Amino acid sequence: MSWKSDLHLSDLESGTRIEVTCRICGASRYAIADKLMANERFAQSRLDEVERDLRCSIRHCGGRVRIALGHNHKNEAYGGGLA
Ligand SMILES: [Zn+2]
Repeated sequence: MSWKSDLHLSDLESGTRIEVTCRICGASRYAIADKLMANERFAQSRLDEVERDLRCSIRHCGGRVRIALGHNHKNEAYGGGLA
């Protein structure tokens, strides 16, 4: 359990940026909470579910990701070891 299982996407402020980092290749990108919620699949999701369902955006990777929020939120040192 973590903060991710307590927070729904819909709890986030509009425009919240979510950093999505691939656990495999380390590629990172930002997703905007509103944009994710616009997707039916994530509209009711908790952040741990978003993390579980998102995949790396690199076509040939498709690895699992970890997500982190920006400055307004508690942000665990999580996973570690990835550049
Ligand atoms: Zn990747």
